[in-house]
Amino acid sequence: MTNEWNARSLDTQRFAELAGALSLRTPLAALGRVLEVSGGAPLQPLEPVCDWSLAGQSRGTATRLQHWIHLQAVLSLPQICQRCLEPMPVTVGVDRWFRFVDDEATALAQDDDCEEDLLVRSAEFDAFELLEDELLLAMPLIISHEDCRPPASPLLVDDLPHPFAALAGLKTAEP
Ligand SMILES: [Zn+2]
Repeated sequence: MTNEWNARSLDTQRFAELAGALSLRTPLAALGRVLEVSGGAPLQPLEPVCDWSLAGQSRGTATRLQHWIHLQAVLSLPQICQRCLEPMPVTVGVDRWFRFVDDEATALAQDDDCEEDLLVRSAEFDAFELLEDELLLAMPLIISHEDCRPPASPLLVDDLPHPFAALAGLKTAEP
């Protein structure tokens, strides 16, 4: 039953009320905004694929029914280490619940008072947009190997002043 829903155009109310569920595997190449931040890291030999799922849920009573969606995603994103400039994979994970509200104004009004994340309900909700937003938010700010030792640059080392050599030079210059 997984594929009866279209993640590019979900009726959020139906999805929640029918406890819809979707499991998807999407190649990174299809997630343009996320692909952009891979910094030109090579995508080979294994093309990165994002495994993600959506689950709808309704909560509350019939008179005060709330519609929720649960997004889970994991992606091993090729990145460039900011220190040694070598390619490295960075695992990005998302596991968040969102509550749907009627419109943008309600979302703005309630945003400060509730802990959950709010989305505006839609009959054609694009879950790929949400996925990309959340993957980008989950990216670490600093990307580097845990024990990164940048290769020593012989040029830099040779440019450092050599205090003792300088002192020695002064000494021999004395009369
Ligand atoms: Zn590194």
